[in-house]
Amino acid sequence: MIESVLPVYNRTDIAFDHGEGPWLVTGDGRRFLDFASGVAVNSLGHAHPHLVKTLTEQAQKLWHTSNLYHISGQEKLAQRLVAASFADTVFFTNSGSESIECAIKMARKYHTHRGKADCFEIITLENAFHGRTLAALAATGRENYLEGFGPVSPGFVQVPFADMAALESVMTSATAGVLLEPIQGEGGVRPVPSDMLRKIRGLCDERGVLLIVDEVQSGMGRTGKLFAYEWADIEPDIVATAKGIGGGFPMGACLATEAAASGMTAGTHGSTFGGNPLAMAVGNAVLDVLLEPGFLEKVVSTGLRLRQSVAMISDQYPEIIEGIQGEGLFLGLRCQCPNVGLVQALYNERVLSVGAANNTVRLLPPLIIDESHVEELISRMTKACKVLKAQNSA
Ligand code: PLP
Repeated sequence: MIESVLPVYNRTDIAFDHGEGPWLVTGDGRRFLDFASGVAVNSLGHAHPHLVKTLTEQAQKLWHTSNLYHISGQEKLAQRLVAASFADTVFFTNSGSESIECAIKMARKYHTHRGKADCFEIITLENAFHGRTLAALAATGRENYLEGFGPVSPGFVQVPFADMAALESVMTSATAGVLLEPIQGEGGVRPVPSDMLRKIRGLCDERGVLLIVDEVQSGMGRTGKLFAYEWADIEPDIVATAKGIGGGFPMGACLATEAAASGMTAGTHGSTFGGNPLAMAVGNAVLDVLLEPGFLEKVVSTGLRLRQSVAMISDQYPEIIEGIQGEGLFLGLRCQCPNVGLVQALYNERVLSVGAANNTVRLLPPLIIDESHVEELISRMTKACKVLKAQNSA
């Protein structure tokens, strides 16, 4: 008999009762160090006082009105995101996939608006993950996710990761945009090299193609910049973000330049829930913290410290951790042993982490962690590696 909850997840047999900062606690009092953050969502940890206060106050005032009316929190958050980024305008969504859908529609509309209705193709990179809706899945382009769901949404072409020549060779007059994650998340925390990002930017400019950056996982401070594209010193045309933007409240955003958004006039797109007052109150509260002077710099320094400490474990246990990649608090451990073994060994030491492709384990702690949490992680990870090594050599 089918479970009452649609069984599309293989869930770990545990449920959490509450959280405190980077800790998750079960009903019977077991405490887990949360270096998963609900897959890069709980950017400020659990029960952050500023978020709890804001949400509670807003809940007593107004939850939802509709995008038929002005929403002051939406205007405020959009203005702040515009001021802090490349963008001129923002559309609010409820998830990463919806932000990606908006980005794809916007890029296609941009060209149609200029009389180029045949210009709708989007180039993506192998190993990408852009979401589970039908167009986002087509952009993701993975057989195992697409199989059985009918015809694949047309207009997507995929090229090998970090292969500039391949990318250039498929760019034609039908190309509307290039869509990429600056650091692939599900794909194994693989950064697109900065010089390649700059080359792609240049090529897009040359050919009148839009550069769409998927910052659903890498954005909102995770790498120590508000958006990861900033590390390459480029400016995209469109950015899709979500996850950390709401600190656990379901929301997302699609940011764009005025030119890229020029086809998106009234009636071309919409969302019932996107940008509602409750979500916007929380989004503004998250941004209050992310934009506090020194906050992102601390993400960089804590990330460095974490990376160096994990590198020492990797030196000690090269048969388990082969190397580390990523940026800020978006780190991937390339494993020598099966990555699921390391995720399980960490779990046994009460540390939550997330597996990824390419035999990688992701460390995605809340951005509020400090030195003491890094030390705690390192002590638990050292034990996990020791146990795993003994198991593997038994
Ligand atoms: N894009 C990236 C890079 C992601 O990591 C994800 C989710 O993991 C998505 C898009 C889809 O986001 P959502 O699950 O919120 O629809």
